[in-house]
Amino acid sequence: MVILKSKEEIQCMARASQIVADGLAMLRPLVRPGVLLVHLDQAAEDFICARGGVPAFKGYRGFPATLCVSVNEQVVHGIPSRRALLEGDIVGLDLGAIVEGFYGDSAITVAVGDINEDVQRLVSITEEALNLGMAQAVVGNRLSDISHAVQTYVEDAGFSVVREFVGHGIGRDLHEDPQIPNYGLPGHGPRLKEGMVLAIEPMVNAGAPGVRVLEDQWTAVTQDGSFSAHFEHTLAVMDGTPTILTRPS
Ligand code: MG
Ligand code: MG
Repeated sequence: MVILKSKEEIQCMARASQIVADGLAMLRPLVRPGVLLVHLDQAAEDFICARGGVPAFKGYRGFPATLCVSVNEQVVHGIPSRRALLEGDIVGLDLGAIVEGFYGDSAITVAVGDINEDVQRLVSITEEALNLGMAQAVVGNRLSDISHAVQTYVEDAGFSVVREFVGHGIGRDLHEDPQIPNYGLPGHGPRLKEGMVLAIEPMVNAGAPGVRVLEDQWTAVTQDGSFSAHFEHTLAVMDGTPTILTRPS
């Protein structure tokens, strides 16, 4: 069942979301050749705690860190290690925070130094797919209108969407109904209503859509080793239209 939020609840979610957005903005310039993934994780945790939030992912189903860090062929849920980033890598940073019991969730994919043109295109197409998906989050549309907008844009660009992981409702839980796949025909699923809060998150592979999870039980990678990009925003349907709660201030 989709839980609709009051304006007051959305304001709480906006505070959690703002910490996440500002945290990602803080992390972006730290991404450079030589930086260790654990350093990004520590910076994220320090930031959220200094702002009075609680890291949402640490301990969630046993995830060991504040930040999900996914490099190159890693799709999502990478565990921060002492691996150093290299020029030409891309890194997905996925961050969540809790304020007064409400969650915010957002992700960006960042280039490490100079990256090649094809990889830059993958990153840009994924970010634009998120924008196009969010634009469908208006009252009266159906949920799969979001999914369809993401899929068609990504596939027309020659890339593929990941099936195994999806966007989600969000509120007092990190993952609430409804699930929001990044593929599907338009005009299906629940009608979008005032007070829905959704985390929309296209995961896009440069090659085939298949993914597998590594032995650490968390890190999802592309089966074919192609690069993958991920962007995510938490948004509220307010006054009929999408209001992005995780937009950087
Ligand atoms: Mg996320
Ligand atoms: Mg999410």
